[in-house]
Amino acid sequence: MIEFRAPDRAGGLPMSRRQRGNRTGDGKRETAIAVIGAGFSGTLIALHLLRRCPGNVVVHLIERNRRFGRGLAYSTGNPNHLLNVPAGRMSAFSDRPNDFVEWLRHEGPEEQRDSGAASFVQRTVFGHYVRHLLNDELKSAGKQRLVLSRGEAREIEVTPRHVALRLDRDREIAADIAVLAIGNFPPEAPRIADPGFYDTPFYRPDPWASDTLSDLDPAAPVLLIGTGLTMIDMAVSLLDQGHVGPIHAISRRGLLPHRHAPTRSVSLLDRPLPTAMPALLRFIRAEVGLAERQGYDWRAVVDGLRPALQDVWQSLSEPDRAVFVRHLRRWWDIHRHRMPAATAERIERARRDGRLHIAAARIADFQVRDGAVDVVTNGGGTPHSIVRVARVINCSGPGCDYDRIREPFVRSLLEQGHVRPDSLRLGLDVTPQCALRNERGEISRRLYAVGPVTKAAFWEMTSVPDIRRQCELVAGNIAGLASLMEAQRAAAN
Ligand SMILES: Cc1cc2nc3c(=O)[nH]c(=O)nc-3n(C[C@H](O)[C@H](O)[C@H](O)COP(=O)(O)OP(=O)(O)OC[C@H]3O[C@@H](n4cnc5c(N)ncnc54)[C@H](O)[C@@H]3O)c2cc1C
Repeated sequence: MIEFRAPDRAGGLPMSRRQRGNRTGDGKRETAIAVIGAGFSGTLIALHLLRRCPGNVVVHLIERNRRFGRGLAYSTGNPNHLLNVPAGRMSAFSDRPNDFVEWLRHEGPEEQRDSGAASFVQRTVFGHYVRHLLNDELKSAGKQRLVLSRGEAREIEVTPRHVALRLDRDREIAADIAVLAIGNFPPEAPRIADPGFYDTPFYRPDPWASDTLSDLDPAAPVLLIGTGLTMIDMAVSLLDQGHVGPIHAISRRGLLPHRHAPTRSVSLLDRPLPTAMPALLRFIRAEVGLAERQGYDWRAVVDGLRPALQDVWQSLSEPDRAVFVRHLRRWWDIHRHRMPAATAERIERARRDGRLHIAAARIADFQVRDGAVDVVTNGGGTPHSIVRVARVINCSGPGCDYDRIREPFVRSLLEQGHVRPDSLRLGLDVTPQCALRNERGEISRRLYAVGPVTKAAFWEMTSVPDIRRQCELVAGNIAGLASLMEAQRAAAN
């Protein structure tokens, strides 16, 4: 691995300083893997790579934010933003399912130490856990093998022999393989008659930005676009900061996530699963009917399907996947990605008290008039205004259509043809082994991706239990490739 480090301007190092580093004591070049993004996915793949790769492989973990290991989901400072998966399923390692619960018991915050496997703990606490794993790895692997680099990846150059990664402040890292773990992006804005509205101060495009709720009159009406878990987070934040004005939330169907409730686990492993859409729907309905007759509910069936979901998705035809994304996705999401009961109770109370209004509506336009925004919807064919608000916040969930993501790194990857969006606009086009396909569909031997970026190939690649398994498998594959590269290099010397 060769690392070129440009000067730290503030520190005044010489402009042309080029560091040739990372050679072993006997002068051999080391293999380097660059992981871009240190949220849950990037951190986990880095840990698994270090465990599986030969001892002289160096892993560079690159993150543009100060807080390594947290990513978007677990860097929230709000203690009422809870995990939407019970603690017992949030271990970072599939072969040590109690790891998170054990960590909580011994090293978690005092007041959460007794949280059991069924509890929904604060997301910020999970962020501490991931960071703790990273610190442990730094201690055991050493800073020579695991290099944390703070910076934003801007561009990649792929040659037959290596990958050159350009970061902000003119820095460059050269590696043999790069893994994209760039995660979740701000939501896509609805297509409206006058997109100029999106440049006005009434609109907040990123629900996770620190200024989304700042300078907001607590009595002002607010519109949240979307009625899924991102909207739930935002409604909780508004209630927490004492917002008393009406909160409106709109989506095309007005569907809210269901709540978690205790359920029996049901195994569907002994039944063959259909791989065509109508038969699959009949199968699920029949299983739900059976579950209800036996005294438990649909949650058991949805959870029971989890181990087979990726196989089912990969077996569906392209048209069936498109039908699912277009017509069934929202229903699936509200059953599969549920709210903790404590959150659901708050949301229900806010609705009963007339503070939160959920509506099914399709947004046609926003019109700014007299210092407020009229929300124009398309209901029953005729445009009409349903509500006046002081702020519009896009909470429609992470954006995954890469053609609409404006991040410089993503734009550059697409423009240079290193990657291409998948046909359903769910993420990037990857193989089942998570190798990225370039603009011509060819399979890269040097670029890989993990996490939500790969959703198109697996469908469920959003939450921790799925991502941890993926990171284990992909790290195994990349480790094999790294060994091969080492062997080829040795043979060439
Ligand atoms: C608000 C929210 C709450 C969630 N809650 C849960 C939950 O309770 N339980 C659960 O199982 N799942 C939850 N999820 C699902 C979540 O997607 C996964 O659990 C997981 O956190 C995804 O991690 P990631 O690392 O892939 O993505 P992210 O967390 O988005 O991390 C990506 C990282 O890459 C960095 N990055 C991006 N581009 C660059 C670049 N060019 N250069 C350098 N760094 C870059 C970003 O700064 C970021 O830190 C939640 C998701 C969201 C959005």
